[in-house]
Amino acid sequence: MSPRITQLAIAVAVLLLATAPLYVAPFTVTLLDYIGIYALVALGIVLLTGIGGMVSFGQSAFMGVAAYSTAWATAIMGFSPWVGLLLALVLTGALAAVLGAVTLRLNGHFLSLSTIAWGLAIYFTFGNVEGLGNFNGITNVPPITIGATPLLGSDQIYFLIWGILLVALLLAHNLLGSRTGRAMRSLRGGKAMVESLGVDAFRVKLVTFVIAALLATLAGWLYAHMSRFVSPAPFDVTKGIEFLMMAMVGGSGHLLGAVVGAALITVLKNAVQDYLPLIAPASAGQLEIVAFSLLFILFLQYARDGIVPFVAGLLPEPKRRLPETAEPLARRAQLARGTPLLSAEACTRRFGGLIAVNDVSFELKSGEILGLIGPNGAGKSTMFNLLTGALPVSEGRITFAGADITRTAQRRIARAGIARTFQHVKLRPKMSLIDNVLLGTHTRTHSGFLSGALRLDRAEERRARHEALVQLRRVGLGDQPYELAGNLPLGNQRILEIARALAADPILLVLDEPAAGLRRQEKLALAELLRALRTEGLTILIVEHDMEFVMNLVDRIVVMEFGSKLVEGDPASVRADARVQEAYLGGVA
Ligand code: ADP
Ligand code: MG
Repeated sequence: MSPRITQLAIAVAVLLLATAPLYVAPFTVTLLDYIGIYALVALGIVLLTGIGGMVSFGQSAFMGVAAYSTAWATAIMGFSPWVGLLLALVLTGALAAVLGAVTLRLNGHFLSLSTIAWGLAIYFTFGNVEGLGNFNGITNVPPITIGATPLLGSDQIYFLIWGILLVALLLAHNLLGSRTGRAMRSLRGGKAMVESLGVDAFRVKLVTFVIAALLATLAGWLYAHMSRFVSPAPFDVTKGIEFLMMAMVGGSGHLLGAVVGAALITVLKNAVQDYLPLIAPASAGQLEIVAFSLLFILFLQYARDGIVPFVAGLLPEPKRRLPETAEPLARRAQLARGTPLLSAEACTRRFGGLIAVNDVSFELKSGEILGLIGPNGAGKSTMFNLLTGALPVSEGRITFAGADITRTAQRRIARAGIARTFQHVKLRPKMSLIDNVLLGTHTRTHSGFLSGALRLDRAEERRARHEALVQLRRVGLGDQPYELAGNLPLGNQRILEIARALAADPILLVLDEPAAGLRRQEKLALAELLRALRTEGLTILIVEHDMEFVMNLVDRIVVMEFGSKLVEGDPASVRADARVQEAYLGGVA
């Protein structure tokens, strides 16, 4: 779809929505109100679960905390609903921050499980607090007033609900296209890669969790003042599961999935409640669950990613323009050629009883290419993980550019100027080439959540996109920057990782088997690129098994065997060394 048609479609949709109360029945307006409110919660789940990979069943509980906060502030304490909103935002935001800080360090299912526990706890807390009306809830919640107008009817609050939803969608859309949004999108699939790019994964997760809770807060606030009554039932864990289902059915990887899912489930639920009693008057309640389970299974079978991606897949690809040229991002000063850059002193790393790296020392001077070679299992990748901070050393000391980085967090080492690639490629296959490379610019750019959502980051973003395209072209992948990374052959995925590393403008580039899977011509091109980088003053540390490639490229070689350093020297002397011949090169050299 061309951008113009997309814009037109959006304009028509917004116009139809804006005038809906004029041409639909009052009952339908009420239904739309609920859809809008639920879509806000589901939007939070899209960001949290679909984008960020954190599954939460507790969003209904956040909605409940908000609804109760505002009900208490208004119906019991007599404040305006706007004060109620403020209280709800502060309270829910603080709760989410505390809960997130405790649970987000847990892996995988523990987070989901803790959100269930949290959902249950909140439900019973509401039900058992005298001052909050026990399970009967709080009545006489006043309507929201704008100026002097109370939003009494469902067609009045309609505009507020959908206005808030549209603004939330717009901000979320901006955010996802920004620096922090890319970090959010790359959370799925493990934090090793994101941390190696200098991203504080925990912080990104925590803020995403709080944003999702705040979206549920807006929903809870609107809900309380629309139904003018709160009780624990609408905020129990079943509802939390329903919200998750909305996001999944609509398409949890897409913002619009929240709206489509909320609409579909709400309308279906209504239909089921209307017609099931006609079929089975006595057991309609239980049948409702059965009907929904069946629908869910069908859905998982035929449109697992949800409706929006399914429909989007039927539409033609949008045409995208290449990034404009912009002023380059600021570069680091490289150290003078020949000054000591990195030193590993007596580094040891144990995995239980296994000593993967055993008392290894070596130095790296600025502007040289050092090859690390050795048979499989010699400890080369582990050594790389120690140098980049991906793993802590058991013993030893590592200094980089004059600073001790032995116990420094991985992301800080990345910020200090070490960029790496992985032996087992770590890309985000569902993100485009250019977005993957843009992740590399994370340490060179600064925009946060807010500037991303408000598009205050545009100048910086243009410069970063320009830089990413330059690096893509440099490694020979500049033809189709919007292709998905997962569609590249494995060899080229390795090359893409190099472009991402270069986008960080490193002082030291650490490459783990970059030529594996490349054809001969591609290997020659890679060697050419690495030589050019050395000429520019970049220092490179490389693990590679192709001896011809290594011998023709590097200045010095360190040979490892069984975790220990065997030999160190220039290519010719290493090649001639009897121990190396025996241990590793065998007849090949
Ligand atoms: P290389 O890269 O030289 O092939 P590695 O550094 O990957 O070697 O592995 C060195 C040794 O350490 C191997 O025996 C490997 O099985 C072991 N090893 C590597 N990583 C881990 C880990 N995370 N846990 C346990 N053992 C590991
Ligand atoms: Mg390895």
